[in-house]
Amino acid sequence: MRSAEIVIIFLCLPALAWASPDPSFDGSGKPVRMKFPSMAQSSSQQGSEEDAKLWIVAKAPDKKARTRALEAGLAIEEVRGDRIHGIASAVTLESLEAAGIEVESATSLLPRMTTKDFPADDAAYHNVAEADKVIRELAASAPKLASVFSIGNSLLGRDILALRLNPTARGTAPSAKPGIVFMATHHAREHLSTEMALGLAKHLVENRAKPELAKLLETRDIFIIPLVNPDGAEYDVEGDRYHMHRKNMRPNGDKTVGVDLNRNYGYHWCETGASSDPRAETYCGPAPFSEPETASVKSFLEARNNIKVLLTYHTFSELILYPWGYTDTPISEAPALKAYKAMAETMAKMNGYTPQQSSELYTASGDTTDWAWAALGIYSFTFELSPKSLWDGGFYPGVPAIATTFAANLRPALYLIGLADDPRRASSADAVAGEDDRPAHANSGR
Ligand SMILES: [Zn+2]
Repeated sequence: MRSAEIVIIFLCLPALAWASPDPSFDGSGKPVRMKFPSMAQSSSQQGSEEDAKLWIVAKAPDKKARTRALEAGLAIEEVRGDRIHGIASAVTLESLEAAGIEVESATSLLPRMTTKDFPADDAAYHNVAEADKVIRELAASAPKLASVFSIGNSLLGRDILALRLNPTARGTAPSAKPGIVFMATHHAREHLSTEMALGLAKHLVENRAKPELAKLLETRDIFIIPLVNPDGAEYDVEGDRYHMHRKNMRPNGDKTVGVDLNRNYGYHWCETGASSDPRAETYCGPAPFSEPETASVKSFLEARNNIKVLLTYHTFSELILYPWGYTDTPISEAPALKAYKAMAETMAKMNGYTPQQSSELYTASGDTTDWAWAALGIYSFTFELSPKSLWDGGFYPGVPAIATTFAANLRPALYLIGLADDPRRASSADAVAGEDDRPAHANSGR
């Protein structure tokens, strides 16, 4: 950090509007704006040191440096040229320095998060109780198609609910139909991913009689799990402000809280792009599947060998990612790789996102998709939903993002449901018309 200038700015002014950041962050020259809630409280009202998240800009010119930054505990949210932008606690600054990463700035994010529990402007977002209610009401509205069950409990004992759409098998009853699972909110602050899962559930149930859906629903076993990390999601909107929380709510015994659930799966666990330091945003936990949330997903998938496809929604960056994440090497089975690429590219034409192997920007091990593919052969994708950038709203993009994100991502979801009987058909299926000249960008928040 020899020449780095560390600027820690604690903005404490009441109701201060967020000023435009350095235009170089945006690059477009046009005014950029943050859609974070307004700041309404003084620093004395803010939370513990654990909550004091910093927005860090650092030099990391290549994949190895980016991976080292993850291992030092930084949650990389954007990659722009030779710089990375991400979130970490103050303690991670030292780890980054020790890893040879030059930090250019570290700005407190907390004041920008100051707001009320899902602020009035964001009231359309569903907290845990509201999301559970939606799922149960959808099931009650279509008893011949839908049922609800818990795949397990979170660390704090909340049910992790799954909505199941299958007219011939309810709850946990086995089914031989081709299965697919949609999951959301492994990371607490990624509330838009829950909205995507709920929107998909609502669409499928409410349009179940339409000819284009009826046959699909008759022949598939569909599971939608909107909140893998309900404890974290609830904490993130608890009190009077957003907490910018990523991990679950595991007390680590050192005053820090949380394991990164998307580093806790058991394939090449904690080898790369993850940290064994509990203070890190990318903390992989004490052991693979140490957390009840990931252990529940594991049991759920292991008990259902009819599930062939998995899509886990995250935010943000507008990416479509497929294994491997832990290594640069592509998956070795040529027909499967061909199918993966065809599926990712087809879906990219539908939603305008960028398709790539998960390790394109950095390697990271212990995520859902690597394990599900390696252990169970499930075709597994991570979507980093909208927006593209922190400066377009980041984790808190506002209510309009719910509808636009759903509209962009419905077709990819239906496409995957259609392919669940045999994903390898993807590489021989007819090309889907779409826009090929998508703008290049390079972000990732996985
Ligand atoms: Zn995420």
